[in-house]
Amino acid sequence: MEYSDDFLRAVLDSVDVGVAVIEGDGTIFFVNDRWITFGQRNGVPDTVQWLGVNYLTVCEEAAETGDCLALEAVQGIKQVLNSGRHSFSLEYPCHSDEEKRWFMMRVSCLVSDGKRFCVLSHQNITERKLAEEKVLNLSRQDGLTGLYNRRYFDEFYKQEWNRCLRQSLPITLVLLDIDHFKSVNDIYGHQMGDQHLRSVAQCANSFAKRSSDICARYGGEEFALVLGNTTAEEAAVLATRLVLAVETLDIPNETSPVSPVLTISAGVVTRVPDTSIQKESLIEEADRLLYLAKKKGRNQLCTANIGSVQRKAEETLI
Ligand code: GH3
Ligand code: MG
Ligand code: MG
Repeated sequence: MEYSDDFLRAVLDSVDVGVAVIEGDGTIFFVNDRWITFGQRNGVPDTVQWLGVNYLTVCEEAAETGDCLALEAVQGIKQVLNSGRHSFSLEYPCHSDEEKRWFMMRVSCLVSDGKRFCVLSHQNITERKLAEEKVLNLSRQDGLTGLYNRRYFDEFYKQEWNRCLRQSLPITLVLLDIDHFKSVNDIYGHQMGDQHLRSVAQCANSFAKRSSDICARYGGEEFALVLGNTTAEEAAVLATRLVLAVETLDIPNETSPVSPVLTISAGVVTRVPDTSIQKESLIEEADRLLYLAKKKGRNQLCTANIGSVQRKAEETLI
């Protein structure tokens, strides 16, 4: 059975994917309706005639502005056009002000009358990407507090340690533990204990403000802050405020020998990473300092560089 050109064109216009065919030098030879409407929805003027435009030049211009994905696209298309590669695909974000969107560009080889062409298609993969993002976020989250979990702490700490190592920046680790939390559960019940754990978590999390900071639930009633590019002095100010902020939550812990309200102790350590130091040594050091803060009477922090900083009114530095 023979199909007319009009029929084949109608088939290509009916698919929900933008399709273009380019010639060996990158010149666009064919586009379907979806390709045109996608361009229009993304700021390409209605007057633009796609046919005859050099798609490789368009991508190369974007690559010159620092768009790494455009550079990858150029390389992939050239391999399909010139180097015998059969196909190539690339996932890329294309977020608008209103919504997050991702697309997949597929490039495949088409040989017709001895001439080599490339068929390009752009397919919306936002639904899958959003689902993947959701799963990823869940895998990083602590169920009770909503903070990052220990697994993500490990991942983020490694990343941030390596960044600070490359850039010779100080990195700070704060380990904190709720004082006499067992008695909260014993007196007010486990459910109330959970609620107070969430309040402390929220409070600690509010101190992780920059993209180089995170607050994670480290264990039962222990939390950890990673603060990238943060000096020992800055860290001491921040941790002092945090110890005070938790006390100010005014959560009752009547039988605690430290205070009638819930308090925390913290170990704070700051280092500029170098290759002679294991990143795990910082965690051990923060843990040792936390233990020291407990030993010294709790409701306080100990830092590696400037000794024990008691939380006193004149030292709140707010
Ligand atoms: P310290 O000042 O030495 O840290 O005393 P503590 O009582 O906080 O320490 P201990 O390690 O004896 O007890 C920790 C308590 O934290 C016991 C445990 O039941 C409680 N805890 C840990 N995780 C959770 C949780 O998810 N929910 C609740 N409600 N309690 C928890
Ligand atoms: Mg405790
Ligand atoms: Mg503990």
